Order: sequence, then structure tokens, then C-alpha cells
Amino acid sequence: MDKLIICAHCGSDACYVDEVNQDIKTYFCYGCGFQTNSLMKEGESFYERQLEVLPELYKDLLDKDDDGHVWMPSTVNVPEKGMVFANGPSKEQWAWAAVKAVKVTEEEKTKYPIPGKKDQYYEWRMDMTTLKEFPEREFMDALSYIEILPE
Ligand SMILES: [Zn+2]
Repeated sequence: MDKLIICAHCGSDACYVDEVNQDIKTYFCYGCGFQTNSLMKEGESFYERQLEVLPELYKDLLDKDDDGHVWMPSTVNVPEKGMVFANGPSKEQWAWAAVKAVKVTEEEKTKYPIPGKKDQYYEWRMDMTTLKEFPEREFMDALSYIEILPE
């Protein structure tokens, strides 16, 4: 049961809240593309683990709201559609990068083996030539570009 609230990160009204269980809620904002959850707080082990694995740009973009939730940019990865991720050299100079997926052809499939699986290959790959950048507040346009959202 999703519900829409005002985003504590950007102030838009496009923030989806999902109650995973009585203790944990996730927040995903389509206005700014940032997300957080009940465990994204300083001192929580979930948060500490994120700090270990997040790319530098993502760490630079972390932003704490008034309730102590730390917001981070989303990464969207739908194998047969494409990807949207934060991209750029610094938090002053970054954009959403959207990349479309294309079908792996019979000729090239040996270049895309599935790790650990004998004679199995990925069906889709990310076509970096389709990379297109979108400003921070145009996250939804980036999702439309890879056809996750309608135009
Ligand atoms: Zn937002």
C-alpha cells in the first residue's frame, strides 16, 4: 500500500512511501530521484554498510532531512529497459544519466556471459551510445527516456 507524501528532500509531492513492515518504511521520490528508508540513519548498520559500497558521487550527494533520514540518489536498473543513475565529477556538477538496453545478438552473446553459469548469456545489455543526461529535477524524464514511465 503505497501512498504519496511531500518529499522531505526536495519538497515535491511525488514521494512514495511504502511500509515494508511496522518498523521499516521506504521513501522513493519521483520528483528528485532520491530515496531513503527507516534504516538510513546515522548509527544504523544498514546505513554504515551503504557508506562502504556507495560510489563517491552518491556519498557526496547524501543529504540528511529534519527527521535524520539520509537521502541518496536512486539507481534504477531494469535489465530489459535500461538504467538511470547519478553521474558526474562532483555534487556541484552532476546529472542523471539514462542508458537504454538493447538485445544481445546471437553473434555477440559470448561477450556477455552470466558469471558462474556455464553456456548462459545475458539477453540484454546496456547500450552506452544511448546515454543521455537529465538535470536533477528531471528524473522522471530520464525514466521516460528508458520507457519505464510513459512519456
Ligand atoms: Zn524529492
